[in-house]
Amino acid sequence: MATYKVANASGLIKLDAMENPYQWPADIIEKWLEKLRNCQLNRYPDPDVQDLAATIRKLNQIPDQFEILFGNGSDELIQVLLMALPPDSSILAPEPSFVMYRQIAQSLGLNYHGIPLQSDSFELDLPAMLDAITKHQPRVVFLAYPNNPTANLFKKSFIFEILETSPGLVVIDEAYAPFADATLLNDLDKYENLLVMRTLSKLGLAGIRLGFFIGSTGIIKQLNKIRLPYNINVLTQITADFALTQQSLFAEQTQKICQDRTALFNALNAISEIKVFESAANFLLFRTPADKAASIFLSLKEQGILIKNLSPQGGLLTDCLRVTVGRPEENQNFLTVLKNILAKE
Ligand SMILES: *Cc1c(COP(=O)(O)O)cnc(C)c1O
Repeated sequence: MATYKVANASGLIKLDAMENPYQWPADIIEKWLEKLRNCQLNRYPDPDVQDLAATIRKLNQIPDQFEILFGNGSDELIQVLLMALPPDSSILAPEPSFVMYRQIAQSLGLNYHGIPLQSDSFELDLPAMLDAITKHQPRVVFLAYPNNPTANLFKKSFIFEILETSPGLVVIDEAYAPFADATLLNDLDKYENLLVMRTLSKLGLAGIRLGFFIGSTGIIKQLNKIRLPYNINVLTQITADFALTQQSLFAEQTQKICQDRTALFNALNAISEIKVFESAANFLLFRTPADKAASIFLSLKEQGILIKNLSPQGGLLTDCLRVTVGRPEENQNFLTVLKNILAKE
C-alpha cells in the first residue's frame, strides 16, 4: 500500500482540501471560548455524545426511529463500518470517487471493486454497477453525493436502483451536502439498507474532526460494537454543538461559497484551453491540455497556490486538476496565475 499523503501547505494559498476559507467573527469566538471555560478536561467525554446528537437530530429533522453514530471524521466511520465486515467481504464504489473507500478497504484486506463512471458526464454507469453488484455481492456500496473529485450529483433514480439491487448496505456519503441542496435523508424509511454519512469538515469545522452516520437502529447497534468508546473528544463535542446552534453562521458562509463557485466556474469556462466541469460542491474539477496537468500544478505551487493534481490517478482523471473555492481574492489570484501559466505553455 501507499501512505495517504497530505501536501505541506505552509506559506501557500490553500485551495487543495475543500476547507471553508472563512474564520469566525470575534464575538462568536468569545462566546465559544466561554463555553469551553467550564469543560472538564480531566473527565472522559460523554461516550454517547448525547447533547450534540440531540442538536443534530433537531437541525436535520431526523425521526426517532433512526440512530446517529459519530466518528472522528467520516474517515473513521468508513473504517468502523469496514471493520465490522467478515474477512472475505467485497466493497464496491464507482471510480473516480473518494480515495479512502479503496484505501481503507485494502488496509483491512477486503476485496475492493472500482466501477468506472461514464467518461463524458461522470454519471454512474448503471448497467455496469448493477452487473458488478450482482457478480460481487458487495456487503457495502459507497456513493459520494455529490461525488469527490468529479463534483456532480448522480441521478437519484440510479441510486434507487442500486439500493434495490444491493444485497448489502449502501452508504450515501453526503460530505458536500451544505453546497448541494440534495440529500437521501428523506429516503431512509424506504430502504433498510441505506446509511447516510455526513461530516462537518467541508461545512467549516475540518479541524475538530466530526462525522456521523444516520441509519436504522439495527445497523447502528452493530457498528457501535466496533467503534471505540470515547472516540469523540470533549472539545469537539462542545465546539460542534456550539457552532451548529449559531444561527446563520454557516448558512451565510456556504451561500457565499456557492456564489463564488459560480463566478469561478464562469471564469474557468471562459479559458479556451480549460474544460471545467459543473459542480454541486465547494470545488471545481477541470481538465488541462494533454500532459500539462503536472507542470501547471507545479507552476501554481511555485507561485504560492496549492491545488490538487489528480492526473496521477489516471483513468478519467488524466490531465485533471481540482481547485477548492476559496475567498474571492484567493480565487482571483489563482485565476490570474493560471492564465499567466497557460499563456507561457
Ligand atoms: C472530505 C471527504 C470526506 C472526509 O471527511 P472527514 O469527515 O473530514 O473525514 C468523506 N467523504 C468525501 C466524499 C469527502 O470528500
